[in-house]
Amino acid sequence: MSQIRAILWDIDGTLMDFALSERNALQQTFQEFGLPAYSEELRQEYSLINKRYWTAMELGKITKPQVLVGRFQELFEIYGIDIALAEEFNTVFQLHIGDEVHFFPNAMELVRDFKSGGYLQCAVTNGTKLAQDRKLAKSGLNRILDYVFISEDVGFEKPSADFFRTVFRSIGHYQPDEAIIVGDSLTSDIQGGKNAGIRTCWFNPQGMVQNLDIQPDFEIRKLTELKRILRPAGD
Ligand SMILES: [Mg+2]
Repeated sequence: MSQIRAILWDIDGTLMDFALSERNALQQTFQEFGLPAYSEELRQEYSLINKRYWTAMELGKITKPQVLVGRFQELFEIYGIDIALAEEFNTVFQLHIGDEVHFFPNAMELVRDFKSGGYLQCAVTNGTKLAQDRKLAKSGLNRILDYVFISEDVGFEKPSADFFRTVFRSIGHYQPDEAIIVGDSLTSDIQGGKNAGIRTCWFNPQGMVQNLDIQPDFEIRKLTELKRILRPAGD
């Protein structure tokens, strides 16, 4: 195996605590729309619906716009909210998501260390361009990472091999076996890495038991464990 020289980072749920961002942004957006329905129960309901929509997209069954608006239409229907609001609600929600920057412990330091270590680092994200551009700028990550690949710009979503083909075409001089993807999603990040023929590292902070047939090359509970994985053999 070649030495790893490039790190492809998922952003949401990997470098940043997306659950926290999402919770804050959701609550804020409900407030802004003057909808009193927000509750912890609603949030949990949203979370289940949202997950189902993203999984359907990863399986190629629905498109990203269908995910973004459809999840709120379904949620609103349950809570008796006008579903015509869903599209605008999502847009405002994305803006709030982009403003909620919450790094996981040591994430920023780690990215800085790897930069000093000469690794090429890229963001590879299926998040919306509206939210991600804002979040990457506000966090300062866009000034540290070498490249940012947002699926809306790329034209393909993870886990498609086409998404990663675009990445490797853009970064040049790096072979797939010199790269690793680090991400919290087995279905988009780890499956995507496998489709692209690169090494895969599953960030699993909660120690979830996985019941899918997708085996990552590495599994970590803390981001700093990645240092051990990337250390040159014999070091
Ligand atoms: Mg993620």
